This record gives sequence, C-alpha cells and structure tokens, in this order.
Amino acid sequence: MTPDEILAVDRRHVWHPYATLPPASPPLVVESAAGVRLRLGDGRELVDGMSSWWAAIHGYRHPVLDAAVTDQLGRMSHVMFGGLTHEPAARLARTLVELAPDGLEHVFLADSGSVSVEVAVKMCLQYQRAVGRPGRRRLGTWRGGYHGDTFHPMSVCDPEGGMHHLWGDVLPRQVFAPVPPPGFDATPDPAYEAALVEAVERHADELAAVIVEPVVQGAGGMRFHHPHYLRVLREVTRRHGILLVFDEIATGFGRTGRMFAAEHAGVTPDVLCVGKALTGGYLTLAAALCTPEVAGAISADGVLAHGPTFMGNPLACAVANASLGLLRAGDWSGRVAGIAAGLRAGLEPLRGTPGVADVRVLGAIGVVQLDHEVDLPRATAAAVGEGVWLRPFRDLVYTMPPYVCDEADVARIAAGVAAAVKAG
Ligand code: PLP
Repeated sequence: MTPDEILAVDRRHVWHPYATLPPASPPLVVESAAGVRLRLGDGRELVDGMSSWWAAIHGYRHPVLDAAVTDQLGRMSHVMFGGLTHEPAARLARTLVELAPDGLEHVFLADSGSVSVEVAVKMCLQYQRAVGRPGRRRLGTWRGGYHGDTFHPMSVCDPEGGMHHLWGDVLPRQVFAPVPPPGFDATPDPAYEAALVEAVERHADELAAVIVEPVVQGAGGMRFHHPHYLRVLREVTRRHGILLVFDEIATGFGRTGRMFAAEHAGVTPDVLCVGKALTGGYLTLAAALCTPEVAGAISADGVLAHGPTFMGNPLACAVANASLGLLRAGDWSGRVAGIAAGLRAGLEPLRGTPGVADVRVLGAIGVVQLDHEVDLPRATAAAVGEGVWLRPFRDLVYTMPPYVCDEADVARIAAGVAAAVKAG
C-alpha cells in the first residue's frame, strides 16, 4: 500500500488512542524504524523522542533483541501458561526478582501495564480478605496519577483533572490525598507529609492498599516529587496493615536514573508493577511482583483469580530477557546520566521564554510545562520540522528518549522540544 492508501484506510476504519473516528488530525505513516529513528512513508526520518511511549529504551531493530525474538520463534511462539511453563518465563521471573528491590520474590506475568495494575489490585483485595480484613476494599492514592485505562487503574487516576474524569460516576470510589509538592530535590514539606498520613489514617479501616507512581507521575502530568514521601507512605501503610503498591510501569528499568524509582527512597513496596520498557518496547508484556507475605496469605486462602490467554507469552519473555540482559551488561546509568545532562543543557534555556511555566529534567525525562494548553497539531508539526517525533499533551511538551541516543540525537530532540514549545 502507498502511504496515501494507508491513510485512506486508516481514516475510514482504524480507531487511534484517545481519538475521535476519524482522528482530528491524520497520523504520520511509519514505514520502518531502526536505532533511534523512525522512517516515514514519505522518506523523512525522525529521531524518536518518545521511545514509543517510553518503552523502546534500546531503540529499534536492535540486533540482540531481533535475534531473541527469531530464536524463540524457532522453538515456540506461544503456549498456554495454565499447567505449562517454559524457560523464557522462568528466566524472566528470576531476573526480575534479582533486579527488583529486595523482598519481592514472586512474579505474575500480565499482558499490559493496565492489566498488571488490575492484578496488583486483586492481590491486595485477596490478601486483605485472606488475613481476615474483608472490609478493606478501597484503594488510596494521591491526586495527579495515571495507572492505565481499565477500570481499577482508572479509579486511581486523578478523578478531576485526569484523563478519566468522564467515568467518575461508574468507577469504584477511592481515597485521594493531595498531589505531592513538586520537585525531586525540593525540601520535603512537613505539612504535606502530615496531610498524607492523615488521609491514609482517616480511611485505614477501609483501605486494602495505597498505590502510587514513585518519584515521577507520568501521564497524569509529568510531575516529579521528593522520594521522602514514599518513605512516609511505607511507614504509615505498614503501621496499619495496608499494602503499598508502586506502579513503575513508566519509571522502571532505569528511566529516572535508578533501575527502579523505589531505589531513590530505599523502600520496598508489597507489590511492584512493571511493563513498557520490560521488553525494550518489542512486545506487550508487564508483571506484578509481590512479597512472600502477600503470595503466602493469598495462596493459603485460595488461588489468585487471574489468568489471561496470552500470559507468559514466550516471545515476549524471550525479548524481555534479552532487553534486561542488555541493560545489565551495558552502562545504562551512564547513558541516562548523559541524556539528563544533554536535556538540561538543551531545555533549561527555555526557562523564561513567554508561555513557559516550568522546565524539569530527571534521568532520561525532560519536561517543559507551558502556561496554556498545547496546540497539538502545531507543536507536533514544529517538532517534525526539526526532525523529531514528540507527542505533547495538555500543557506539556516532553521527551523520554531511548537510552541509546547519542549527544547529537539528544541535542536534536531538545531542538524539537524548543520548536514545539514555541509553536504550541
Ligand atoms: N501505569 C503507568 C504509570 C503508566 O504510565 C501506564 C501507561 O502509560 C500504565 C500504567 C498503563 O500501561 P499500559 O498502557 O501498558 O496498559
């Protein structure tokens, strides 16, 4: 099909994420991708500042990842996970347990980030029932979060400003503390700490778990907060027998400069959700890890009631093993630090530009917040004009590039962000 034919069929039949049908502005046709570049149907090449929604940390067509998929394809592409197991899944579970904060020992493989959050919620509800607290059916979180698009994850997204405000009347009613004060390096605010503790304690008898994105709230607003608040949550939840879930679907595997953002706080949650970069962005896979205490209590009471058809898909597990192998063998933290330095150099000068409210960088995440809603078509076109793929949202122009970007790629991405800011 020619790019025009693809667009014509797309316009008629294909529903894109968070879009009308047909979409307000036509998508770009991608013909292929290699390294950190997307090649469009019209021959243009764009440096990918999005890592395909923060997943393609090693870039595209990485020879090790390609080989992992084709090798596994030669053995078996899929097999059901009920009553059967295989080496890619076993190896992956072992590696995840080795990499995750100490104390997380059991791995439930899910097929998307949202589903791993659903599994985490089930773990928490089943745990509370198993330990004789069946009345604890609610979840606590802070405002401004994003945990996915299925119903329990939506219920812990911000009910007002967030993407899922449409659903307010049908979602389970959860408990919300205020958004954490901004700033990874800001001095922790004792008043906020007290409000956080108070919100949890006021509802302690109803709460099965508290779930948060540690250190970076992603799709809810690209906000960074001090790791201290995670320690506060760990202490208050433990004291009241409430489980603590960290959603590291966006932050996991090095994005914030640590393998997991929980490490900034030195805290182990009871349940950890991972996804996105788990397979280096090759295939859809996520996981919920939990402690022996959680798994033991649930298992003493019965089965964990979840089992998707494509659970533990061997191709996805094999490429996840290869992706984690690349991370472990390479200097990912040096690369992320280099990207952070490049983004700071490129984005900090935008501070003070008319319309710019804030500039922030943490690890391989660079954010420019505007004082108005971004004009998405204009901002995207401006970035594309600079040879960069970005997908701004709300008042945010941001980048989460692949870790394999070199200095020139990062400079190009920063120029794309600057162009999008000025146009948007
Ligand atoms: N949790 C967080 C923190 C996320 O950033 C996302 C996706 O952006 C999800 C959950 C949902 O993951 P998925 O899109 O794979 O369902």
